[in-house]
Order: sequence, then C-alpha cells, then structure tokens
Amino acid sequence: MPEVHYLEDAESSKLEEALESGLEEAGFKRGMTVAVKLHMGEGKGMFRPEIAKRAVSVLLKIGCKPFLFDTIVMYPGPRHIKAGYKANAMLHGFTEKKIGCPVVISDEFVLVKTAHMEAEVSKEMAGADAMLVLTHFKGHDCASFGGSIKNLGMGCASPKTKRDQHSLGQPVVNDNCIACGICEKVCPFHAIKVSDKCHISYSRCMGCDTCHYNCPHGALDIKVSFEALLCEAAAAALQPFDKKPVFFLNDVRNITKHCDCFPFPGDPVAKDVGVLLSKDIVAIDQASLDLSNKQEGKNFFKLLHHHDPYLSTKEAERQGMGKQEYSLEKI
Ligand code: SF4
Ligand code: SF4
Repeated sequence: MPEVHYLEDAESSKLEEALESGLEEAGFKRGMTVAVKLHMGEGKGMFRPEIAKRAVSVLLKIGCKPFLFDTIVMYPGPRHIKAGYKANAMLHGFTEKKIGCPVVISDEFVLVKTAHMEAEVSKEMAGADAMLVLTHFKGHDCASFGGSIKNLGMGCASPKTKRDQHSLGQPVVNDNCIACGICEKVCPFHAIKVSDKCHISYSRCMGCDTCHYNCPHGALDIKVSFEALLCEAAAAALQPFDKKPVFFLNDVRNITKHCDCFPFPGDPVAKDVGVLLSKDIVAIDQASLDLSNKQEGKNFFKLLHHHDPYLSTKEAERQGMGKQEYSLEKI
C-alpha cells in the first residue's frame, strides 16, 4: 500500500527533512537533472514560491540539478506564449535568483500515444532524469478538484492536447431529454440552453461532463469521460519516467473553488490541511481529498461543482497509475 506523509505545519523544517528522505527513497541522486513541475500563476492563485524555493534547496542539497517548468496554455492571455508566461512567472516571484534554479517555460513537445489521444507532452520534462511535482490543491471547474493528476494531465500537455481533453468528451443529447432544465443549472460554462430540449453550444462547452452526471434521464451521451482523458494525459506525462524517479508534494492550503488558471480563483472554501508527500500520484490526491473532506465534514467540492472529485482518483487507479488505498503517516 503506498505511503502518504502528512505535515500540518508547512512552515516547520520537518518539511525539508521529510522531502529529502522521500526523494532519496524514491531514487533521486546527485547529478540528476530534475524537472520541477508547478503552476506559476495566471493571477492570484498559484503554487507558493516560498515552498518551491524550499523544495529546490532540498534538491540542491542532494546534489540534483533542478529546473522549474510549466507549459504554455491553450487560451488567449499572457501565458499563451513563452515570453508572456515568463513575465507572469517573474511577477509572481519565480525567478532563478529568488528560487535558486532556472525557470523553463515549455513550448516544445514530444508525442505519447494514449487510448484516445496522440498526446503531446513537454520536451524538456521528458528529457529530465527525474521529476518533482509541486501542486497547489484547489477546486477545478471540470474535474471538480485540481491535484497532482490535473497538474500533470493539463499542466504538462501542449495546447492541442489540452484542447483535446476538453473536446473529446463533449456530450451529445439523445431522445430521452424531457427538457427538465437541470443540465442548464449545473453547467459551469453556461454552455446549455434548454427550450424544447437541451441545446449545447459546443464552442462554449469544456467537456467537463457535469451535465451528463446530473441528467436524471440519461439523455446526455459521452464516448469518453473528461476524467479518462485527464488521466490519460497525466499517464502520458509520466510515461517518459517509467524507469526514472518521480515524487509528489500537494500543498493543501488556500483551497479555492476555482483553479489557478482563473485570474481570481476566489476566497478559500475549506480550511487549510497542510502539506502531503508521496511517491504515488493517486494516493496523494485521494488523501488530499479525504483529509480536506474529513475536516469539512462533507464532500465539499462535489457540492460546489455538482461533480464528484473522486471520479478522477477512481479513473487514475483504473488506468493503473497508482492506488486509492494508502497508509497515512503524520509527520
Ligand atoms: S438534464 Fe437531461 S433531461 Fe433535463 S434538460 Fe438536460 S438533457 Fe434534458
Ligand atoms: S460538458 Fe456539459 S456541463 Fe460541461 S461544459 Fe459542456 S455542456 Fe456544460
């Protein structure tokens, strides 16, 4: 059973100690180039630069050669091109001078075939000897939550592969529709209008499948779920690391409703939990959900997004990426 280590006080130096022993146990060694995956922020939400700096200092202590990286995004805005994203990153404190290692914005990709996609993943990432995935745990309008799975699935992909994840699972209305209007109410992107029946605007639809899960009459068909595509893309990002070490850190604090791609992701919707560490991408996301739900006394992302966040971890386990069952050790 995979282990997840959990530290309530993220400011404690126990974080460095736990991270160092976790990385060494995972196989991180002196001389290895390490791709450090993180989201450097569109607006207010992002992985905290101070934790990135502390993680990089641990990698440097081991003797690794880390670089921070993220990929350009699919939608218009500063992060759509390398120079714009670099400027944004700088604004948020992600510079070599402040963090202690180079910052790479990736716009070159290599191909990894998956069940439903010709996935394109970051070239710089694929060429590294190891990867450390630093994730800010928060809500997400398509997957209900954004953890390590989402950080890799969307975050390491080319704009085309990001687009594929949002388009290949778009639902189609069948003859069962009785125009009850539920789908219009739950669609987070206002892509549905119900008159005589449900009408979907495919230019607005982000393929989240929330309408499909909430239709009480089975009137919205999907060929493949958003979660399946997201997990396939995350598995594609991990494929070059089949025989190389990978380690995950989830910062489960400042838990906002929306993801860090929103300029204003909103105020926190749940109390801070702390920082989690694991070698297993499924276990760390499952534990992040379990701990925050336990603290709130409810599956709060499901209530906020009308979409069960556990669909992602279930699908990731089904695709063989890791385990939903884990052992939790409080540091
Ligand atoms: S929820 Fe289902 S039945 Fe109701 S309007 Fe939408 S598609 Fe039709
Ligand atoms: S999949 Fe359904 S709920 Fe999601 S954006 Fe498209 S129409 Fe809206």
